[in-house]
Amino acid sequence: MGKGLLFVVSGPSGTGKGTICKALVEKAAIALSVSMTTRKARSNEVNGKNYYFVSNAEFQDCVQDSGFLEFAEVYGNYYGTPKKPVYDLLELGKDVVLEIDIQGALRIKEVCPKAIFIFILPPSMTELRKRITGRGSESQDVIDLRLGEALEEVAYIDKYDYCVVNDEVDKAVEKIIAIMNAEHYRVSEDIYSLIENYKEEM
Ligand code: 5GP
Repeated sequence: MGKGLLFVVSGPSGTGKGTICKALVEKAAIALSVSMTTRKARSNEVNGKNYYFVSNAEFQDCVQDSGFLEFAEVYGNYYGTPKKPVYDLLELGKDVVLEIDIQGALRIKEVCPKAIFIFILPPSMTELRKRITGRGSESQDVIDLRLGEALEEVAYIDKYDYCVVNDEVDKAVEKIIAIMNAEHYRVSEDIYSLIENYKEEM
């Protein structure tokens, strides 16, 4: 990892992590990684902004070239985090946020153990059901499946550093910005060179 900090915002489907990450980019000096996916673009989505929409063959080529920091199959489509843009930004000292599913987050924990992991929880299962139903794009079976998966996914919360309940987007974003700011003041190896300088000044 370079000089910027890598944040992973993750949580079950429907918790609002996408909305939170969009707001984070507007309010904080952080770059959002654009994932590659084999899913078809929705009508309001722009290639290169929301995702890089690619064919299965293009995705597999990137897998073969070791171009992903992590990738996973989510609800029948592939999603991956392109490695180079993330490393380039971190090297430039820029903080980067990944908005990815839990499998991807666990993989990032293996390859970038210093990343900071934030789990987004819904205020309740009733609210989660409402949010997934409100999208209008999923059938009842799919909604039940997603809710069941959400409960299973919550079991991974102990792998994360922070947990934020998304009851109101603005408040959740404020809490995450506070976490991000605090992480910059964590005692790390860099501090020893500063202490060495103090000693030399004596
Ligand atoms: P959607 O298709 O609704 O945009 O995203 C479906 C799920 O895929 C969400 O949980 C989202 O966080 C996750 N996702 C998006 N990009 C990536 C990625 O690059 N890697 C992984 N592992 N999951 C991703």
